Amino acid sequence: MSRAGRQRLAYAGFLALAFMIALTASWTQLGTQIDNYVYDWMFRLYSPQPWQTQSIVLAIDEPSLSAFGGRLGFRKALAKGLERIAVAHPRAVAVDVIVADVDAESDRALEAAFRDTPNLILPCDLLKDDSGWDDPLPRFRRWAAAVGHVHVELEAPVGRSIPLEKAAGRDRRWALALEAFRVAQNSVIVESPRELEVAGVTIPATRATSRLMRIRYVPPAMERIPTVSLKQLEDHPELWRQFSGKVVFAGVTAQTEVRDRWLTPYLSPMPMPGVEMHANTFETIAQHRFLTDAPAWSVVTFCLLLVAVAGSIFTWLSGWKANLAAVGVLGAAHIVPYIAFTHSTVFPFSPGVSTAWFSIVTAAAWQHFVVRGRLVRSETERTRYQQAMHFVTHEMRTPLTAIQGSSEMMTRYSLTDEKRNQIAQLINSESKRLGRMIEMFLNVERLSAGEMQLKHENFGLREVLETCVERARPLADRKQIQIVMEELPGEALAGDRELMEYAFFNLLTNAIKYSPSKTEVRVFGEREADRLRISVQDQGIGMDRKEVRKIFQKFYRTKRAEQSGETGTGIGLSIVEQIVLQHGGKIEVASAPGKGSCFTLILPGAGATVPRPLAAN
Ligand code: ADP
Repeated sequence: MSRAGRQRLAYAGFLALAFMIALTASWTQLGTQIDNYVYDWMFRLYSPQPWQTQSIVLAIDEPSLSAFGGRLGFRKALAKGLERIAVAHPRAVAVDVIVADVDAESDRALEAAFRDTPNLILPCDLLKDDSGWDDPLPRFRRWAAAVGHVHVELEAPVGRSIPLEKAAGRDRRWALALEAFRVAQNSVIVESPRELEVAGVTIPATRATSRLMRIRYVPPAMERIPTVSLKQLEDHPELWRQFSGKVVFAGVTAQTEVRDRWLTPYLSPMPMPGVEMHANTFETIAQHRFLTDAPAWSVVTFCLLLVAVAGSIFTWLSGWKANLAAVGVLGAAHIVPYIAFTHSTVFPFSPGVSTAWFSIVTAAAWQHFVVRGRLVRSETERTRYQQAMHFVTHEMRTPLTAIQGSSEMMTRYSLTDEKRNQIAQLINSESKRLGRMIEMFLNVERLSAGEMQLKHENFGLREVLETCVERARPLADRKQIQIVMEELPGEALAGDRELMEYAFFNLLTNAIKYSPSKTEVRVFGEREADRLRISVQDQGIGMDRKEVRKIFQKFYRTKRAEQSGETGTGIGLSIVEQIVLQHGGKIEVASAPGKGSCFTLILPGAGATVPRPLAAN
């Protein structure tokens, strides 16, 4: 695969990772909490059109309790209240007061009131250990058209939804509000896995979630559901009219007595008593104002879309345009849940928003690094090119001078045939050397750029070294330096013979160049496991540790070397290192100032598999 292809793939991979992390994060408790918080916030932000309520609360509030003798006395007052409103013919009366027996007198009164209340719904609650239902006494129960549970789903402290269905073992009950609606409509509940249907109203509540339904509380603009207290009814009996044609929810609203009170998403300072919550549940159903959760696939699709857009933005755009578009994506992620909410769909906030943020940050960071990487690469290419030019001009001067000089001699002077022949041969060999040099130089450049495959041939180590020594001999002779070839392993080397020859030759000429005359240069080798160690040792000027660390850099020369009067480019060793690395080997240098140096190449033998080295940049 091409470099660009690999990069594209990695980019897509990173974006996919960002997508996964974002989705996972939004499923955590923190994500859910944020979703809930935003849900409540949208509730407060968006107020639907007010509607005509169909329910009314008959409240047993604080004044009623104190007027009718507290917890024990209010039952008789409730009985009286129910009798009073019966004349208004309410469509149904749901009582959210657990009516266990207390005393014979009030029980009788209550039973009589229940008997006279058509369409009565009585409450039941789960026993503490969930083993069954705490049902109304049979004497009350017999007058009820239905019994509904008063269990609210506890996403404490905010009551957002209610399970319309609740089971204790196999004994299942519908919610009080749902039963009230059914009884008022004189209908039945038809179930399917995804919804319930009552009197032509389809309630989106799946079986899998115990028919959990979000409560659409009456908006603050409508204040609360109309409420008349027992005390008010006692003081102003004409209030019965308000109950006419309504579904009544009777229950305790007094702060001190209420067992269940909840915060609503409106976060009003006064928590809402359970009875009012049931009335709100009823309103949600009766007004068909359901808040449906967006299906999971739509959320995932939306998130995928965000990732794709974020990824494309930073691929095609840059600078302020990219930033502006990214802000657009973030804006969309933030606003979509709200727009959905105004259309009665609950679209979770955290998946979209976290996906947008994660993918934008990932895409922006990636593009930043890729662009920077490209810059650095082009910079290194430029310097390499410059260094290469430097090297070419330096190295080629010698053969060129020889060729120029010789050809001038041929034209200027009349020469004997023999001399002419000699010079022609010199020109020929020097120009060939020049050609080889160019070829090799290009090869080394390609090698280090990772663009060239090494030649793979086996060649005798001794043979190569001998060639090098022969070529270096004239240089050594001039300084009366002796080159000593010692014991060498008979093994073959594997790789590019020409390049290897260059490497050895360079070490030999360096050893000769940086040694005083009448010294000795030793060449020796040994086997070490499946590797060969070949050393070139001299008795020359040597180097200190700091210098040794730098000699493989291009164009570096030690002060000592410059003062020695020997010419050089400081590039030879960098090429040697490149060649050795490409052959899967390494170089060791032992040296001390004034004490000579020993360069050792450690190379895999012909038998060993050469690991493919990484392309150097
Ligand atoms: P050049 O010999 O053309 O300067 P090289 O890259 O071959 O370039 O060597 C880099 C430097 O390493 C030399 O300039 C010299 O300072 C140091 N060096 C290399 N070989 C030896 C050696 N055998 N003894 C001492 N110094 C050496």
